[in-house]
Order: sequence, then C-alpha cells, then structure tokens
Amino acid sequence: MQVGIGYDVHRLVENRKLVLGGVEIPYHLGLLGHSDADVLTHAIVDAILGAAALGDIGTHFPDTDPRYEGMDSLIFLQDTALKVTACGYQIENIDTTVIAQRPKLAPYISEIRETLARTLDIAVTQMNVKATTAEELGMVGEGKAIVAHAIACLSRR
Ligand code: MG
Repeated sequence: MQVGIGYDVHRLVENRKLVLGGVEIPYHLGLLGHSDADVLTHAIVDAILGAAALGDIGTHFPDTDPRYEGMDSLIFLQDTALKVTACGYQIENIDTTVIAQRPKLAPYISEIRETLARTLDIAVTQMNVKATTAEELGMVGEGKAIVAHAIACLSRR
C-alpha cells in the first residue's frame, strides 16, 4: 500500500464556471485557473501522483502549456489513473474534503462522487467526497477561494 496527499486552492472570480469534481455547479462566481480550475479534481490528481511517487500535477500538466487552457480537468484525472496503472498500481480508495463557504455543495455530492469514480474506473464505494465551510474565517470563509484536500491509497498489483 502507498498513500499520497493532495491539496489545492483556487480563487473565486466573476465570469468563470464553477466546476467541482467534473460537475458544473450553478453559482455567480467560478474558479480562476488555466484549465477549468477544478480544485477538487486537481487535489485528487496530486494525491494519486503522490501515492505513486510520480511528482505533481504541475510537472505532468503544466499551466504554461497552451494545450491545457480551459481543459476539462477530468482528462487530467483519467490520464493520471492510466499513468499509475501503467506503473503497476491500482487505486484502493480516495477520500476528499472540499472547503467552500458558498455555495452549499450537499445537493451535488452524489453526482460529483459518481463522476469521479466513473472517470477513475473505480467503484463509488472507493471514492468519497466531503464538504465543509470555513466558518466564515479567512480567504475561504470570506468567499474568495475554494480549497480541496485529497488522500489516495494505491496498492501494487
Ligand atoms: Mg489547481
């Protein structure tokens, strides 16, 4: 067994879509970034790469590469799963926490979880998504950003 952690933060701004775990969430602000800025998916990519000791999202999918502009981050996730599989690993489980003051994420958790599990080709029971607020404290609590943490457990086949 090998475990990896992932962390990401993106700023909330106007005129951007809010995409979390590959699901578009209706909100008047969205996350700023080179790709679709899906903070949750980015944290999961880093956790999986970390567990396999394969570096980080920035080295595999650099934000200086014009090919990745506006990119659906689920493509990064799928590509990451294929990379670790090619290295002889299989994903045992992934757990995540999204920290967002607004919008309320509870109505979207099942869809996010299903979307991520499908993309990774794992069971929904191997993919967990939790959401919490920042109790109105700091950058997240003031609604300026969304943070995501992830942990991945891989086994060697
Ligand atoms: Mg990111």
